[in-house]
Amino acid sequence: MLERLLLSGLFFITTVAAGTDLTRLPVGDGHISTQPQSGSVWPCRTEGFGAHRVHTGPWLRDDGTFDFLNKPAAGGVVNWPHELSITVDGDSRKVSGNALPSHPTAVFPKSKSDPTYQYSPNPNPIRAQSIVVELPTLPVMAIHASCVPLGPIGVLLTGGLFFNALDANGQDAVAHEILDSCQGHPAQNGTYHYHNMTSCLQEEGSAHSELIGYAFDGFGIYGKRGVEGEELTNASLDECHGHEHPIVWDGQTTTLYHYHATWEYPYTVGCFKGVSQFHPRRNR
Ligand SMILES: [Zn+2]
Ligand SMILES: [Zn+2]
Repeated sequence: MLERLLLSGLFFITTVAAGTDLTRLPVGDGHISTQPQSGSVWPCRTEGFGAHRVHTGPWLRDDGTFDFLNKPAAGGVVNWPHELSITVDGDSRKVSGNALPSHPTAVFPKSKSDPTYQYSPNPNPIRAQSIVVELPTLPVMAIHASCVPLGPIGVLLTGGLFFNALDANGQDAVAHEILDSCQGHPAQNGTYHYHNMTSCLQEEGSAHSELIGYAFDGFGIYGKRGVEGEELTNASLDECHGHEHPIVWDGQTTTLYHYHATWEYPYTVGCFKGVSQFHPRRNR
């Protein structure tokens, strides 16, 4: 499994990560805000933060960085009956699926023989969820940005959901949590999710990244490259982790706001620019 993690990491080194040392990513702990703020997550609630044991291990350093490439991944290989459908009907984009990813996951709950069990036993199995979301086809900016919930804030084209960058303890989940080699893991109710862009979605080409999913305010989320193919950082994005320029949207070139993934915390969406309207039916 570590080998698979390294392989997925090497893919990025050779394709996009010209400026980012994946062995020394800054840990985002403490970068939590109560308003739109670059480099932060604005969570809608913070109850329970700081209450749990901190997951730690040799990949986390005292200097505030972590080694993404040598962080152990949960072991095992499980394939899933993935379902995802995205259809446009007038001004509505209907996303439905079972929240199971198109790529294999690790075995959850983890067995005691998994070398990562010592860091995080994760007792939750992965369970299918009934996801039915209607998003605006052409999302508009809200008057004010808004906080992001803990729990699903969008869906990637793998069919897996993404949460914000924080774990239940309010810490940088990508740095602390034991994830599988696609950077996913199940939540307490079994929802398989990521906290960053999974390395199991490959970035094609060398220009502006392709669409990788939809945030639940309807805006798209794209990979890690900007218009010149450059690797994006927080400094090149706004306080919610996006920007506006012409993109291909439903087959047409349209000037539209969109989010980007980065290697830098908060990895995906730090706050919503549009109106969030996610009311999932879950626990099928
Ligand atoms: Zn998580
Ligand atoms: Zn862009």
